[in-house]
Amino acid sequence: MGSAGGPIHIVGAGPAGLTAALAVARAGRQAVVHEQRCDTGGRFHGDLQGIENWTTPTDVLDELGQLGVEPTFDTHACREGAFYDPDGREYLYRSPHPLFYLVRRGKEPGTLDQQLKDQALEAGVEIRFRDPVTRLPQGGIVAGGPRGPDAIAVGYVFDTPRADGVFGTLSDRLAPKGYSYLLISRGRGTVATCLFDDFHREKLYLERTIDFFREKAGLQMRNPVRFGGTGNVLFPSTARHGEILFVGEAAGFQDALWGFGMRFAMLSGHLAAQAMLKSAPEDYDGLWRARLGDLLKVSIVNRCCFARMGDRGYVRLMRSIGRARDARDWLRRHYAPSPGKRLLFPFARRRFRSRRSPPGCAVSSCDCTWCRAHLSAPESPTAEPRLVSAQASGRPSL
Ligand SMILES: Cc1cc2nc3c(=O)[nH]c(=O)nc-3n(C[C@H](O)[C@H](O)[C@H](O)COP(=O)(O)OP(=O)(O)OC[C@H]3O[C@@H](n4cnc5c(N)ncnc54)[C@H](O)[C@@H]3O)c2cc1C
Repeated sequence: MGSAGGPIHIVGAGPAGLTAALAVARAGRQAVVHEQRCDTGGRFHGDLQGIENWTTPTDVLDELGQLGVEPTFDTHACREGAFYDPDGREYLYRSPHPLFYLVRRGKEPGTLDQQLKDQALEAGVEIRFRDPVTRLPQGGIVAGGPRGPDAIAVGYVFDTPRADGVFGTLSDRLAPKGYSYLLISRGRGTVATCLFDDFHREKLYLERTIDFFREKAGLQMRNPVRFGGTGNVLFPSTARHGEILFVGEAAGFQDALWGFGMRFAMLSGHLAAQAMLKSAPEDYDGLWRARLGDLLKVSIVNRCCFARMGDRGYVRLMRSIGRARDARDWLRRHYAPSPGKRLLFPFARRRFRSRRSPPGCAVSSCDCTWCRAHLSAPESPTAEPRLVSAQASGRPSL
């Protein structure tokens, strides 16, 4: 699969895998995506998520356009939101430019997942559903999403008569070391608590979150459906294992502070495709480090600082953002690789322990798509050329 001219195999039809497939197909090469579920977006439930728009001066939708991803999915540009500190004080964060774009995730028409699938199919990508792939001996791109929870989010999606709005809060009583949010767009809503600690009391934190937003934001839920999910963050030594390139959350690429992973996923998918198209998988580590490395490092430093703050620290943080005339500028500065943050990174990296499943094995020639040995170990070549999928082998998905 790494061989020039043959198809490039991609494991996972999430944003990372489909963006990679789009790039491959648009360059005239055959892309085959293997997806273990029966459709794209099966991990999600129609929940609203935000694609962040503050880490670059360029608008994220323009950047995605340059990657070949057209914004055919439903988007809602959010320029302001009401945020509450642990004492319940409200701060209005505003920007003349979108702070983020709300998109829906899942299997319904108009979601990011379904629209990416349609774009990929139109470009000629072959997607094999119900096809969990466990090994990529010929190389390829692994975009299989998270494995093990560094953070969890639990909440409800629902219909609502309430007007559109974005609300958030930082409080260890509602979301230890994380945050709670309420997002409403065009009659659909998502309320959730995103925890970075004390996962086993998720039910309690979700109940408190719902009570909080009922009181502060007039939350009204109709036809609520419960959802939940996990996220992974890691700064890998390498996201390559011979001719296997890991992208999106499969590599641990995600904003460690708040868990914004979609932009990382699509960017890394595109970069891996570029390396594969040039038959130069060895270029990939340099490519993702150049575009995503500093962002990932700063987000890990930010997370470690945030985790030490506690409620009094959140108050100071929220006041400081509230004083900014443009919240987007404040956030961009907060994510900029300042000399201080560069200095702190080695310490933060040591403190920040990912809860990803431990490597399944430490065999240097392992071609298993979930083997994490290489993410922290020196690179090594892959084994004999053979693609094994569940369709072909009857193996269960890992
Ligand atoms: C509740 C929740 C809220 C979130 N909110 C936000 C947000 O507001 N903003 C943001 O930017 N990010 C958010 N994220 C994170 C974001 O959703 C992810 O970072 C992003 O989807 C990662 O994309 P991916 O393509 O790497 O992985 P995924 O989207 O997880 O896609 C992986 C795909 O691979 C498939 N797969 C896995 N293993 C195999 C296998 N062996 N064989 C075949 N197929 C396989 C899976 O079925 C899945 O379809 C949120 C996550 C959760 C859980």
